[in-house]
Amino acid sequence: MGLWRAFINILLPPRCLKCGKVLSLQNGLCAECFNKIVFISEPHCHCCGRPFADEMHLKSGVRHICGNCLKEKRPLLVMRRSAFMYDDESKNLILDFKFKDKTFYAETLANMMFAAGKDIWDEKPDLLMPVPIYRLRLLKRRYNQAALLARYLALKTEIKADCESLVRSENTIPQVQLSGKARRKNLQKAFAVAKVNAVKGKKIVLIDDVETTGSTLKECAKVLKKAGAAKIYALTAARADG
Ligand SMILES: [Zn+2]
Ligand SMILES: [Zn+2]
Repeated sequence: MGLWRAFINILLPPRCLKCGKVLSLQNGLCAECFNKIVFISEPHCHCCGRPFADEMHLKSGVRHICGNCLKEKRPLLVMRRSAFMYDDESKNLILDFKFKDKTFYAETLANMMFAAGKDIWDEKPDLLMPVPIYRLRLLKRRYNQAALLARYLALKTEIKADCESLVRSENTIPQVQLSGKARRKNLQKAFAVAKVNAVKGKKIVLIDDVETTGSTLKECAKVLKKAGAAKIYALTAARADG
């Protein structure tokens, strides 16, 4: 531990992000809170990352593909991974990070995402790209939580974070206020590629805090593909669907 870090730790001791208990090393989760988070591990679908319920029958280390992904011949997102399930235990981590200025959560969440993204890193992607938020919302909230995650992941992976090439083109209504069909309609034309040359032929990892229906990620993937991107992956901190 550097001297500066040691000094900071005396002034502002690292704490558990969930319960506030003082920790010895750095910000993160205490053992008790950590054990309550449902981390996603194998066996899961190699394509969409969805954990399998009947894991008894599946061998670890074998690439299983779920029924949904088998139906899609060429999925827009070739691989999706998330660190943990979005549930009652984990949701405040995401909500506080997103809406309550807890930007320092980014480092812990990015570390979890880094571990969950192993299969994606093996593919040697070229760029990390945060899902953009609308400019007005950025002014109100002052930061894009997805961009914070992408920056930390860029440090860990040494893959460039590109926070400019993909932009939100219209002020869409927050997705949480809408039902399935309305969500999809609301998202159409929501994203655009500002710098086509930056994405052409590139393997791109979309970064976001949470995947709910996956429609936001798919819409981003669609415009990136149209602009000539080679392959699109997605990595989120949490996923809401089982
Ligand atoms: Zn705790
Ligand atoms: Zn799948």
